[in-house]
Amino acid sequence: MATPTRIGLAGLAVMGQNLALNIAEKGFPISVYNRTTSKVDETVERAKLEGNLPLYGFHDPESFVNSIQKPRVIIMLVKAGAPVDQTIKTLSVYMEKGDCIIDGGNEWYENTERRAKAMAELGLLYLGMGVSGGEEGARHGPSMMPGGSFEAYKYIEDILLKVAAQVPDSGPCVTYIGKGGSGNFVKMIHNGIEYGDMQLIAEAYDVLKSAGKLSNEELHELLSCLLPAPTIASSLDSRFLSGLKDERVQAAKVFQSSGVGDILTDQIVDKKKLVDDVRQALYASKICSYAQGMNLIRAKSVEQGWDLKLGELARIWKGGCIIRAIFLDRIKKAYDRNPDLANLLVDPEFAKEMIDRQSAWRRVVCLAINSGISTPGMSSSLAYFDTYRRERLPANLVQAQRDYFGAHTYERIDMSGSFHTEWFKIA
Ligand code: NAP
Repeated sequence: MATPTRIGLAGLAVMGQNLALNIAEKGFPISVYNRTTSKVDETVERAKLEGNLPLYGFHDPESFVNSIQKPRVIIMLVKAGAPVDQTIKTLSVYMEKGDCIIDGGNEWYENTERRAKAMAELGLLYLGMGVSGGEEGARHGPSMMPGGSFEAYKYIEDILLKVAAQVPDSGPCVTYIGKGGSGNFVKMIHNGIEYGDMQLIAEAYDVLKSAGKLSNEELHELLSCLLPAPTIASSLDSRFLSGLKDERVQAAKVFQSSGVGDILTDQIVDKKKLVDDVRQALYASKICSYAQGMNLIRAKSVEQGWDLKLGELARIWKGGCIIRAIFLDRIKKAYDRNPDLANLLVDPEFAKEMIDRQSAWRRVVCLAINSGISTPGMSSSLAYFDTYRRERLPANLVQAQRDYFGAHTYERIDMSGSFHTEWFKIA
């Protein structure tokens, strides 16, 4: 290696190894390092086999850091938590003022903010960058959510724009997210939405299989239309296998011996109609799930003064990452129409969709409840919708009870002020 490389990457497990190869493939010479040196050799070997990519391996941190052009930029992809602090300690002693470290892992955003402050004291820049898309995304185009030092982002913007997933008409799936730990926070909510999607798909599968008696072939055909990303299917498989299996086996025995079978009632359902109803229920539930995710991001953005652009987040999730939902484009348009939209549910287009779908959605949830099939995702989404759409909720009685037990006072709708009642004196 005659000239310094453009960038460095430390941490060569699944994500790091594949992202390093992706960066090298896009024409940016890269230095790589890993605590366990066999992974360095493995990555160098892969770079040779995958087309003599400009990737250079180092077994010691000092020569790794020194091999990178100044100001140096190093992406870390190690286990979140203490390993990140240990890697920073190992590398930062060889780094100089103006150099930059980027944590690409799933880190808690407050840890990133703590580290950014500590790095600033050493004159180093710091970014916390959520990377989505797993192994496949890292290798061929992830969605990336960099937050923190804008100056640091600018150092590597050209690399990120090329390395990210590219979506026709929408551009590369990366944008500067905002200050502080916003990149990590947004990635965390993105992961929550991803789990929500998987849960909803699993519930749709359960209702169709258990109540609708769809065959495996019919389910396969149907779910392949809902599931363009094979990663979701594999996540689903692992979720089915996980959890409290032994306990559930015992519980099923207890209830079966008392005459309560797995499925409570064997209702005769119109398969075709059920398939259509489940499709509507899934879609409406997903809108609620994304609405909640977006609102969590907005609430944190307001609290931290990050000024995050929700429509832009929907754009960069369109490719690379696992969620890749088709209606992300429509979510982006909703925020383009109104950047201050209080909730996706009240965007005129989404509101109409919710109205059109709610009858089918209620039928599916009722069928599931009557059949004893648990649909926590669809049911809680419906409860969210029913709560959000009502002008008045029974919180008055909650506050009355709080006033009764703890003299917390209450407000009235017919006059202003704060009131307290000696409830126990009322006959
Ligand atoms: P990982 O299994 O989370 O971490 C393994 C890496 O961390 C190895 O390079 C390992 O080095 C290093 N490491 C662990 N403890 C260390 C320590 N004390 N000091 C220095 N290095 C240490 O790897 P990953 O799955 O590639 O994920 C990397 C990051 O990306 C994580 O934050 C993860 O949550 C996030 N992420 C993962 C995925 C995914 O699909 N896997 C997707 C998105 C984001 P050794 O080889 O020496 O043990």
